[in-house]
This record gives sequence, structure tokens and C-alpha cells, in this order.
Amino acid sequence: MIVLSGPSGVGKSTVANLVLERSPILVKSVSLCTRPPRPHEKEGVDYYFVSPAEFERKRQAGELLEWAEVYGNLYGTGADYVKKQLEGGRSVLLELDIQGGKKVKEVFPGAVLIFLVPPSRETAEKRLRGRGTEEEEVIRRRLDNAMRELEFSRNYDYLVRNDELDRCVSDVLAVVRAESMRRERTDLRF
Ligand code: 5GP
Repeated sequence: MIVLSGPSGVGKSTVANLVLERSPILVKSVSLCTRPPRPHEKEGVDYYFVSPAEFERKRQAGELLEWAEVYGNLYGTGADYVKKQLEGGRSVLLELDIQGGKKVKEVFPGAVLIFLVPPSRETAEKRLRGRGTEEEEVIRRRLDNAMRELEFSRNYDYLVRNDELDRCVSDVLAVVRAESMRRERTDLRF
């Protein structure tokens, strides 16, 4: 399991999507969330958009591997999907907030945690505004939270700076590839 986290506006989804496109061994974990979809987002591709009641039902039924409340909305990872992918020998990329990253590492100590580091507060701000979907108050809250999130990056195995998109994607792919060759994950037969 590869977990990708980082402060708001760091370009996580862009990086994640390019990494998925370029990696032959990775599949994406599509999370459940209770916020409404943004204009370009698709059901079952970006998220499974569910009501708070449905989310709660799944959580109580133990169907979520981890879940967290982020900016007043609920987000969670479906346990079944991830389990099936791992059993099928695939690696799963999860885009989670830091609470999710911490939880996944507790449940799966072998999970690899990658933290995307933004170039600067100004760049993060520009990206959030460029998205054009968030209220001013939400942007401010997200940026303040981003500062705090940076402090939690110490729980992560890798820090990858997103200065330049292509370079950042290559760096994440290099981590994925190196991790796939770790002795404990390799079952060499001649
Ligand atoms: P957004 O609403 O911008 O898509 O996501 C908000 C935050 O929730 C991001 O930090 C994203 O990585 C995180 N997130 C998305 N899905 C999940 C999930 O299944 N679990 C957890 N813990 N965080 C998630």
C-alpha cells in the first residue's frame, strides 16, 4: 500500500493521477466521501459520494479500513476493495489525509507513506484559488491547516517536493519502484 498525503493545494490529485497513469503495478483506491462532487468529479472515479447516514452505516458495519473527518466532511477507505487488490498481487495507491496515513500504518506496518511537500505557501494558495471551487474562508482554513500538516510529515517514510510536476511524479514513481524491490517483498525463484 502506498499512501500519498500532503497539505491542501499541494497538487496531490494531479500527482496521484499521473503516477497511476505511468505505473503498471498501481491501482487507485477510490474513497467514500460525504461532500458534494466538484464539477469535474465523477462518481466511482474520484470518490463514491454518499450521504452521512450511508457513511455511518458502513463505518459501523466495519466496512471501512480507515476514516477521518476533514474540513467537516467524512472520508473513508473501503476495506473490501483494498483487500481484493492486495490479494490479487496489485499495489494500491491511497490519497489520504495525515490521520488516514497514520491509521493505515498502524494496521499495515508495511504501508509506504509518502508526503508531498509544497514549494511555498504562495504556490499552495495560488493552486487553491486556481481551482476556483472553494470559498475564501475555506481557503484560509485549508492553508492554516496545511502549515500544521507539514509538522506531521515526520510520521512519513518519504518527503517528495512538488516543485515541478514531472519531476515530482518521477520521484514518487522511483519510491514505488524501489519499494517493490525490497527484500521482504521479493519472492525470487530461479
Ligand atoms: P478533497 O475534498 O480536497 O478531495 O480531500 C480533502 C482531504 O481528504 C485530502 O487531504 C484527501 O487526501 C483526504 N482524503 C480523501 N479520501 C480520504 C480517505 O478515504 N481517508 C482519509 N483519511 N482521507 C481522505
